[in-house]
This record gives sequence, C-alpha cells and structure tokens, in this order.
Amino acid sequence: MFIADHIRNFCVIAHIDHGKSTLADRFLELTHAVERRNMKAQLLDQMDLERERGITIKMQPVRMIYKINHTEAPNSKHQFPNKSQISNSKIPNLEIGNWKLEISDSKQYVLNLIDTPGHIDFSYEVSRALAAVEGAILLVDATQGVQAQTLTNLSIAKEQRLAIIPAVNKIDMPGAYADEAVEEMAALLGVAEENVSRVSAKTGEGVAALLERVINEIPPPSSCLLRDSASSQRESAARQSRALIFDSKFESHRGVIAFVRVFDGEFKQGDKARLHAAATSLEVKEVGVFTPALAAVDVLSQGEIGYVVTGIKDPMKVRIGDTIFLDAPTPGFELLPLPGYRQPQPVMWASFYPEDEREYDSLRDAVSRLQLNDASFTFEAESSPLLGRSFKCGFLGMLHLEIVTERLKREFSQSLIITSPSIAYEVTTRDAAASIISSPAKFPPRGEIVSVQEPWMTGDIIVPDRYLGDVLGLIDAYEGKMLASEQFGSAEHAKEGEVRMLLKAEMPLREIVSDFFDALKSATSGYASLAYEQAGMRPALVERLDIHVAEEPVAALTRIVSQKKAPAIARSMVTALKDVLPRQLFQVKIQAIMNGRIIASESLSALKKDVTGHLYGGDRSRKMKLWKKQKRGKKKLAAGGKVRIPPEAYLQVLKRR
Ligand code: GDP
Ligand code: MG
Repeated sequence: MFIADHIRNFCVIAHIDHGKSTLADRFLELTHAVERRNMKAQLLDQMDLERERGITIKMQPVRMIYKINHTEAPNSKHQFPNKSQISNSKIPNLEIGNWKLEISDSKQYVLNLIDTPGHIDFSYEVSRALAAVEGAILLVDATQGVQAQTLTNLSIAKEQRLAIIPAVNKIDMPGAYADEAVEEMAALLGVAEENVSRVSAKTGEGVAALLERVINEIPPPSSCLLRDSASSQRESAARQSRALIFDSKFESHRGVIAFVRVFDGEFKQGDKARLHAAATSLEVKEVGVFTPALAAVDVLSQGEIGYVVTGIKDPMKVRIGDTIFLDAPTPGFELLPLPGYRQPQPVMWASFYPEDEREYDSLRDAVSRLQLNDASFTFEAESSPLLGRSFKCGFLGMLHLEIVTERLKREFSQSLIITSPSIAYEVTTRDAAASIISSPAKFPPRGEIVSVQEPWMTGDIIVPDRYLGDVLGLIDAYEGKMLASEQFGSAEHAKEGEVRMLLKAEMPLREIVSDFFDALKSATSGYASLAYEQAGMRPALVERLDIHVAEEPVAALTRIVSQKKAPAIARSMVTALKDVLPRQLFQVKIQAIMNGRIIASESLSALKKDVTGHLYGGDRSRKMKLWKKQKRGKKKLAAGGKVRIPPEAYLQVLKRR
C-alpha cells in the first residue's frame, strides 16, 4: 500500500483564543506523541514569548501516529490507543519516538498537524501553513461564536481548496452557546448542523471523534499535480523530487533548517539538492520530522511534512516559498517550481538602531536570522549622518512590531532604538513627480507639497449590538466611515437578546496602525473582532510633526499625523516625553513643532544637586560661591545641548498617541 494514503496533513485555524493550541494538546495526548509527564498546556507554543502572552506567534508542525480502534467507542472521552496496540514496525522511516507505523495495518495513520496563530498580524503564517496541507479544522469558541478572523481564515482555506472540518469548542463552559455556534457555522459553510463537531479541548470530549473525521474527511496528500489543473508539462515535472519550503530556522552549527512539505519523490541524507529561486546547490545533511522536537528519519517521502538540514550558512539564501529539488533531473524533464507564496506587503515601517553603534554587525546578523523564522518581517540597511547606520524594517501591524522587538531582545540579545512606526504616503511636490515616502524624516515641508495620498483599508467588525454605539463612535474618532451593517449569525442568539452585527467600515491605515485595535477591544470588553484588507490610495490631510528636545530635533520622533489630531498627539507626546526623560543638570525644553510653529511644549526642570549639603551653619557666602559655580557648570552643560534619550523612553513615547 502507498505510504501517502496513510498520511493526513492538516491545520487548526481559528480566531485568537478559540482553543487551537489546547486542542492540539489533546491530539498529542490522544496519539501518545508526547509522554504524559512532558505534557504541559499549549505545548506547541514553544517560545517563551508565546507562553507569557498566551498567544501563538509561530506556526508549529508536529507529527503524530494514530490508530483507529473501533472496539472502543470513538466518541467517548479520551480514548487513547494503548501502546501494545501499536507495536512492531517494518518501515523504519516512519518510526517516531516509541511509535511505529505499520503500513500493513490499514488502521494506522501519520497525522501531521500544523498549529497556527490567530491574530490578524500573523495571517501570513496561516496562509503558508495552509499551502502545506490538505485540510483544516475550523474551530469556533462556543462562548464567542464566529469572529472576524474566522471569516478571514475560512476564505484563505477556501482559496487553497482545502477540506474543512467545522468544530465548535469549549462546550464545557457554563457560558457556552453551543447550539447557536453550531447553527452559525453550519450557515457559514452551507453544511448540515450534524456536520459541525462539538468538542471541549479542555476536557477532551469529542476530540477522538474529531480526529477520526480528520482521517475520514481530509484527503491523503496528493502531489501538486492534483491541486493544479494538470498540464502535461506539470506531469513531467512531477517525476522530479520536489518539496515546498514553508518555514525555516537557523542553527549556528548546522546552518539553515528548512521546514518542507514533500510534494513529489523523496529526500534523504547525502542527496544533492538545489534551491530553485536562490539558484543554490546543497547537500542534504539530515532529514527528519517534528515530534515536535526535530527527530531524524532515513527518508522523507511524498506527502510528508518534515525538515531538511541544508548546511547553508547564509540565511538570506533560503527563501520561504522556494522549491527544493533533487539535483539529478531525469533527462528531458524540465524542473518546475511549486507555486510559492505571495510575498506579504508590509503595511508599516520603523527604523532599528543598535543602541551601541559598534553592535551594528551583530544587529545585521540578528535581523537576517529572525527573518528566516518570520518571513513577513522585511528589512533593508539605511544610514543617516546624524544617527548613523540602521535598518529600516517592515511589519504587518503593531503587534508584529512588538513581537519582533521582543524576539530580537530575547533570542538575539539585541539592545535597540526604534523609531516611531510610519506608513507609506504617496507625495507629489512642486519639483518632483509622485513618490512613496515611508520615513517621516524625509517628508517634505508643507510649502513644497502639492498633494498627499495615503492607503485606506476596508474592515469587517463583528460585535454584539449593545456595543454598536461605542463602535460607531470609535470608527468616527479614528476617521473611518461606515459602509454597511447587517445582523449576523444565529436567530437563537437574537432570541437571547444577544444580536450580533457585522459592520463593514473603511478607515485610513494610519489610524488602524495607531491603536484602533486596542481601542476597539477595550470599548467592547473584548467582544468585538476585526479583520481588514487594502482598499487603495486616497487623498490625505496629514502634516509632519517634529519633536525637539533641548532645542534639537529628534529625528526618531518625527511623525506624520492627521491635521485633525495633530494638537492632541503633539500634547500627548511632549507630556509622555516629560514623564520618561531622565532629568538633567539643566532645564530641558521639550517642543512639538508643526509647519514651523510650536504647537505644544513642556519643560523638564533641572536636577538639583545639593552642592552645599556638607556645609553646616550659616556661611552664606561660601554657599553662594558653590551655587554660582554650579550654575556656570549647568550653563556649560546646557550649551553642550546633548540629552541622551534612553531607548525605553523612546518606546514609551511611541506607544502613546
Ligand atoms: P488559541 O489562541 O486558539 O491557540 O487558544 P488557546 O489554545 O491558547 O486557548 C485559549 C484559552 O482558552 C486558554 O486559556 C485555554 O485554556 C482555554 N480553552 C481552550 N479550549 C477550551 C475548552 O474546551 N474549554 C475551556 N473551558 N477552556 C478552553
Ligand atoms: Mg494558539
């Protein structure tokens, strides 16, 4: 029997917090992929940062062996196949840990699961994971119902023509509306309500049955042939071993480790291979699977998900979405790459400076290695005479920026100074045709500008109607416009007095990246969800706002702001700076300047150093002498003018509006 028939590759997709990682935990237990004593909650969230924040940032593949055992009722709680039921093996390459797959036993399966993140900033991770699999479990929290990211994930999964298994999670919770959630999902997917699984990732109820649906309803892996409309050319190419790189990571001694889905043929240690887009040759140092730790195997065959140790030491050479081929083309056959990914477009940029300029090279290494593990992060080198060398980095959103900064700090020990994030404006000046400007410091003065255009987004917001007023107010405050609204979801919900609305709105990207998402969450006690996409360029009423500290411009704090909000932003920035700047021995002026005018200012009073404390009694003239001396010293310092702004202070200010 063909090995691939016994493989199922799938993802769990859902809105953030709907229980993907917890469901994955139950799958791992059910298949004994992880020993009980090593089990911990949300095991697949392996980064410290993920565990602290309780969110998934990276997709994480894991391979499990499952045996269907119909002597036990699959629907009851926690039906684990016991160890004696899965024993001897004749196929060494399918051995993982203590678990061996016996291909002759038609009831054993290799399940490759990829856990994915749910936050909108990480949708690119999701779309890559989906390209490596044949099916997805679409999970919805019974206490929340269908949310905005559920819709986004579903549409990506449909685009990739995946088999979709709908499931409602958290049915154990007292506040669960399982029936309503089932109804919503059935309507959304156009399936009967019986086809929506009901599970509790916490108690394990329904999880074994869900895993059986994965085996029965998700097709075994096909070569790329079957997913494309087959042309004769593709068919010939299919005889070549090839795999899609869907993720990667870097290890200093072994170089780049590519995470792959093998679409055709097989890969093993010692094979000579080649990266298509990078036009680079390599020798396969090792192949293996995810347990979820990396575990070496002899061969990775068609349909499998695993890793290839490439030995390539330059992280830039291994691009996610690239195809890896075996280097011995069959004569007369043309190498055809697998369809890659659309490179994600950053929507905002910020410059990263090493805190200590001598650390520039170390920062360059760090950002290139991070990019290997986060393909949606982009960077390019830049330099300015004032601030020295830096990297201009692109992000998919504010949370993405935060996560990248944290990872650089923790995983790569980088101390950074980060400029205020900006978006791209299309600026036409008197002297030049339209150009895209994404660095606020390069924004021309008002006098030279003929017109400015900025990107807009359209968004879906799902929210209980009791918050409708707050959300409409917020959309207005963030310069957005309502396009349409409709009642959403189950009629049952409506009966409970819980009508949910689906709002379509449009908004400048500038406002979304400021802190619209946070504001929306807090205005609705976390009940609203948001998903958005690009909607083209429109005229913008924006202005350049410069911040001066001790009468010197601080380029890193220059921002482009809406004219309407300029005074408020200016005020909050100078106050924030005043709060976080360490006091100096001299008075420091903090000013916000727009179009040549000071529109907000604060001053940081001088630090009083007690220079006379050691003098007792009333020798006033000696005290006066010392005070005078101190005053001269302060003047000198002030003339020197330099106030060192600590990086924490920058971040503090950038976080506020
Ligand atoms: P993810 O963001 O989709 O990966 O969600 P997580 O797996 O991190 O779960 C989010 C939260 O919901 C965690 O606090 C889980 O403990 C909790 N949770 C997940 N599934 C269930 C469930 O079936 N029942 C209950 N009561 N809580 C659950
Ligand atoms: Mg998760």
